[in-house]
Amino acid sequence: MAEVVVVGGGVGGMAAAIRLRAGGHDVVVVERNEVLGGKLATRSSGGFTFDTGPSLLTLPEVFDDLLGVAGTSLAEVVEPVRLDPICRYRWSDGAGFDHRSASAEAVAEVERLSPGSGASFRAYLDHGRRVWEVSRRTFLSGPMESPVDLVRRMRGPSDLWAIDPLRSLDARARSHFSDLRLVQWAGRYATYSGSSPYAAPATLACIPWIEQSSGAWYVRGGLAGLAEALGKVLAGMTVEVRTATEVEAVRADGEAVRGVRLAGGETLDADVVVANVDATHLYADLLPDQRALRRVLRAPVSSSGFALLVAVEGRTEGLAHHNVAFSGDEAAEFGDLFERRRAPGDPTLYVCASVVSDAAQAPEGCENWFVLVNVPPASAVDWDAEAERYRDHVLEQLARRGWDLAGRIRSIEVITPLHIAERYRAWQGSIYGTSSNGRQAAFLRPSNRGPRRGLYLVGGSSHPGGGLPLVAISGGIVAAMVEADLSR
Ligand SMILES: Cc1cc2nc3c(=O)[nH]c(=O)nc-3n(C[C@H](O)[C@H](O)[C@H](O)COP(=O)(O)OP(=O)(O)OC[C@H]3O[C@@H](n4cnc5c(N)ncnc54)[C@H](O)[C@@H]3O)c2cc1C
Repeated sequence: MAEVVVVGGGVGGMAAAIRLRAGGHDVVVVERNEVLGGKLATRSSGGFTFDTGPSLLTLPEVFDDLLGVAGTSLAEVVEPVRLDPICRYRWSDGAGFDHRSASAEAVAEVERLSPGSGASFRAYLDHGRRVWEVSRRTFLSGPMESPVDLVRRMRGPSDLWAIDPLRSLDARARSHFSDLRLVQWAGRYATYSGSSPYAAPATLACIPWIEQSSGAWYVRGGLAGLAEALGKVLAGMTVEVRTATEVEAVRADGEAVRGVRLAGGETLDADVVVANVDATHLYADLLPDQRALRRVLRAPVSSSGFALLVAVEGRTEGLAHHNVAFSGDEAAEFGDLFERRRAPGDPTLYVCASVVSDAAQAPEGCENWFVLVNVPPASAVDWDAEAERYRDHVLEQLARRGWDLAGRIRSIEVITPLHIAERYRAWQGSIYGTSSNGRQAAFLRPSNRGPRRGLYLVGGSSHPGGGLPLVAISGGIVAAMVEADLSR
């Protein structure tokens, strides 16, 4: 059995470690931060708890499948809570709708917002179901070293049409909805992979269906509890976990990897190195490889995030667990993000107040607001100079949308793209690794197989991309590749 070192204890790395350990390998996970989980992280202060990364869990069955190999299940290790509504949406004209968890109720809400659009909404979800069925058994069921891999897993040309990769998500939405507010709603799902609705493929139309069919979930105590739970599963499987330990280099000898070198000089020998770190960090710093790095940099980087953790006094009428207040000008917002590369002046605001579902997340009578705005990659803005100004701008924007927090803020903390880049070694502070922008994006994303024997890549910057379920799936793909390679 192989000795495996997993570099990085994010969800992708932990997923690979669990599966490889279940396959009988000796696995060591090395994580630079003091805690496991990577971007799936939390912060608590003065009785307020904030998830600082993911606040929405989709496809819980992916985690059931993962935990099943360790003899447990998601519901045994955390308390998952299915949210209803999935999200409360509102526009600057004061209109809005609740995306309800039951599809008939969601359709009714859309019909109330936009008479005549309920049927289009239903048809859009149904279209998303077909996209998802095909994507799951083609795009997500194995590695993607070239487009041939995808085509090989397809049953015929109808599968290619079904996943609708050639037109943009925006174009698909426009063909379904005459109400531009619903086009904007549908386009928002591009941001689930840090992308633009004008550039990301219409394949992403499956995401609303995923939320509708298998739910939008919270984990009681905060989503970061899932990271802690995965850490306990690793410990129960006798995986050695070394936190607060930086990997300085992946050691290689000719064609094959030999292990890693830690900061301080200690070396760990291994036949297999699974890099859960961002692919740019791997090829720029840990195993310098200009050719591989150039290829990685051809993949479009995902957007980053600017977040406020606001400890709010008092309760806000009409606040749901997940809330979105849309930009008044979607084209300008995405133009700012992906073309002009500046923090949007009129951003879409996402507010997560988990206290709505979990009273223990804030002191009595208070709220924990996690406010997230999509912003361009870190180098586009001088965040050291701009963070305070943009914080005030976001607070003003909240007030303009009816969420005036003046006089109610007990404390406020800012997370900029620089923090994300620095804490997780995430290239340009990207939230999701690589984006889905462009028809080539899925094929430009770094492969799960590295350029040396025994080197594999797992997580958001490699196939199949970012987001909790996808990086967990990535762990499964990599574990299967390792097994297949070792048995040759
Ligand atoms: C603000 C924000 C909001 C998000 N919202 C959602 C959401 O609602 N739902 C969702 O599904 N996803 C969301 N995401 C995306 C999701 O968090 C990521 O896609 C996912 O957690 C990435 O997991 P990963 O394993 O690929 O990488 P990471 O979590 O980045 O893990 C990589 C790990 O490697 C470690 N590392 C790096 N370099 C080294 C080194 N040299 N030595 C040792 N360790 C190293 C890092 O510290 C890190 O722990 C969000 C992300 C952010 C930042």
